[in-house]
Amino acid sequence: MLRIEAIPALQDNYIWAIIGNGCCAVVDPGDAAPILSWLQRHALRLSAILVTHRHDDHIGGIADLLARHEVPVYGPALEGIAVVSQPLDEGGCVALPEIDAEFRAMSVPGHTRGHIAYYGHGLLFCGDTLFACGCGRIFEGTASQLHDSLQRLAALPGETQVYCTHEYTLGNIAFALGMEPDNTQLIERARQEQDKRMRGLPTLPSTIALELATNPFLRCREPAIRQAAEAYAQRPLTTPEAVFAVAREMKNQFRQ
Ligand code: ZN
Ligand code: FE
Repeated sequence: MLRIEAIPALQDNYIWAIIGNGCCAVVDPGDAAPILSWLQRHALRLSAILVTHRHDDHIGGIADLLARHEVPVYGPALEGIAVVSQPLDEGGCVALPEIDAEFRAMSVPGHTRGHIAYYGHGLLFCGDTLFACGCGRIFEGTASQLHDSLQRLAALPGETQVYCTHEYTLGNIAFALGMEPDNTQLIERARQEQDKRMRGLPTLPSTIALELATNPFLRCREPAIRQAAEAYAQRPLTTPEAVFAVAREMKNQFRQ
């Protein structure tokens, strides 16, 4: 049975530890120090590193981890990350016998060109693609690419546990409420997530079902979202992709 724990790092990153049989794999280690002390405290051995994309806050700790632990580093083939030893494309298999787990890579470009997500055991590690009630910025891809990537993730089973890399949830919810002020599930979610943060708890994991019900970037077919985007763009938006592109632009300009 796998157990997942959050190792908080940097400003607002979570490094996810996937634990089984006294070993663990970590996802997106932006910093080594919190992982090394965490491993010691929990008497766990590091057996693998998984990376979603090339940004420094996701890979910055790998060299220091490798200096102490000789482990495979899985990551996107397309991003030219020097420390990746097991490059993955769409459908690539991540077999982790030490923790008795197996994941598949999903190609989800948009935030970066080669961004991948890891899916298996009802768990999704999606880096900076899908956030709780939000989505990543478009740095290298196009809005239509990121929209397609998010749609692929949205098609996973509703009960899938969503582990993204950043604690951006409250800010994302503030934006979402502006888009869809009458969404009762979103209003209820705002209350629950604020309560978690007040108690110092992560708002993650989320689920695909909760994201489908509350995340504006997965709800571009909803009339309220479309109307909010049209009011901003001051033109009719006839496809979900067009609504998504405007919504992403609105989020870029959004200040709480
Ligand atoms: Zn990033
Ligand atoms: Fe990031």
